[in-house]
Amino acid sequence: MSQLIDGKYISQKIREQIKHKTADYFGTHHKKPGLATILVGESPASKVYIRNKIKACEEVGIISKHYGLPETTTQSELLELIHKLNHDSSIQGILVQLPVPKHIDSQLVLDAISPLKDVDGFHPMNMGNLLIGKPGLKPCTPYGVMKMLEEIGVNPAGLHAVIVGRSNIVGKPMALLLLQAHATVTLCHSKTKNIAKEVERADIVVAAVGIPHFVKGEWIQKGAIVIDVGINRLDDGRLVGDVDFAEASKKAAFITPVPGGVGPMTIAMLLWNTLEAAQLQIKKENL
Ligand code: NAD
Repeated sequence: MSQLIDGKYISQKIREQIKHKTADYFGTHHKKPGLATILVGESPASKVYIRNKIKACEEVGIISKHYGLPETTTQSELLELIHKLNHDSSIQGILVQLPVPKHIDSQLVLDAISPLKDVDGFHPMNMGNLLIGKPGLKPCTPYGVMKMLEEIGVNPAGLHAVIVGRSNIVGKPMALLLLQAHATVTLCHSKTKNIAKEVERADIVVAAVGIPHFVKGEWIQKGAIVIDVGINRLDDGRLVGDVDFAEASKKAAFITPVPGGVGPMTIAMLLWNTLEAAQLQIKKENL
């Protein structure tokens, strides 16, 4: 039987650290870091995500400023707001909740955020820094997975990590972070010929596909570490991951549950990135 990786517990520990660091930041710079959140439209799911992020900010002493914009907001109006926030010294982080309505080009929006305030780590400059191993802001979900591995005492160096899913927000940056930590990385996707065979060789499996129970228990090597990023709602209302948890947990050494695994880590790393962004900006001012 495997050991659960408790994302709620680990994320709470990280939030406590952030709370102390935020207090230190206030002590030194006499201001609190500020996070601007932008939501275009009325998506109920996005509203819940934003509400959770704002609440998490309050708990650790980060000031949040929310911009709820109507669905009819034009691309240039949104870009204008981002431009204004890029130059607002009370704001250290800018988050645009995705997805944005179809008439807005999301990549253009992400590109407009100052790389120093890009707390989601999606700006091409931060992605590029990740690729070449330079410091920068890292995408929250894969960064949270790295913190989980650290917390359970797993050093990825020399291990074989197999990631299923190659999205820009999870799979690709996950591969780069694990590579940076000296793992041997295999990145699988919808065109991969035999995913089962790839996963069978994995010491670390990261599933980020968006298909319930996609990764079967029989694919898991005995003693592997299984990280399930997927969040899928079934017709009966239950939330499940991309891994067949019941079967996989019979073979894995460590496994994340869904819910209560990677999900809470994503918000914790958003707070972490906001503080990191604030520190990067101070460093730049002092250059
Ligand atoms: P996405 O749809 O952008 O990407 C899915 C990836 O899976 C694609 O690269 C695709 O190639 C691959 N894929 C799709 N079908 C496949 C198949 N049949 N075989 C192999 N690969 C296949 O999704 P995403 O944004 O990366 O999210 C993935 C999952 O993670 C979703 O369930 C999402 O809700 C969840 N998620 C969770 C968090 C969190 O905080 N826990 C954060 C982001 C995403």
